[in-house]
Amino acid sequence: MVVEWSGKTIYVDPVGQPAWYKAFPKPDLVLLTHVHGDHYREAVLTAVVGPKTQIVAPPALAKALDKGLKEKTIALANGAATDKVGFKLESVASYNTTAQRKRFHPKGQGNGYVLNLGGQRIYISGDTEGTPEMRALKGIDVAFLCMNLPYTMDVVAAAAAVKAFRPKVVYPYHSRGQDTMKFKQLVGDAAEVRLRNWYK
Ligand code: ZN
Repeated sequence: MVVEWSGKTIYVDPVGQPAWYKAFPKPDLVLLTHVHGDHYREAVLTAVVGPKTQIVAPPALAKALDKGLKEKTIALANGAATDKVGFKLESVASYNTTAQRKRFHPKGQGNGYVLNLGGQRIYISGDTEGTPEMRALKGIDVAFLCMNLPYTMDVVAAAAAVKAFRPKVVYPYHSRGQDTMKFKQLVGDAAEVRLRNWYK
């Protein structure tokens, strides 16, 4: 995804084709959530970063980056925060909690992020289930929440998590093939659910 705010351009997990990003300025900041190929592709990352781009990644991924990329990268552990990116950026642990799914996203390897932009708190989940860390989030204005099986969580678990941390607005993302209408129904008036057709 790409976030544009106040003249800043932020890419999150740029993958696919470098040409997809031609419509956007070079990123001031790239946030990487974890090492999986649908979130991190070194060739795409190398192609999209500019001379001034900063990268933030969980330590497990920061370590794996090649030298040129590593020099641009701040390693941010679960639960840590930095203001070296021009705003306060917080990392939120992202991992599986269901026994048979723990191998997909083991605890400690992936980050979600909270971006504090102009008085708004934007949460981007990464690949995760409804962890205690997610449920404890406070004051989230907009949440981008993953929901897909078997790798993260189903729409029922995602809706239950929303009812716990109560973002004002929630966009399902990384939700290919999931019944996001059902998610919206389950959330009810606990949050404003905005459905977008990411996969057209
Ligand atoms: Zn993943």
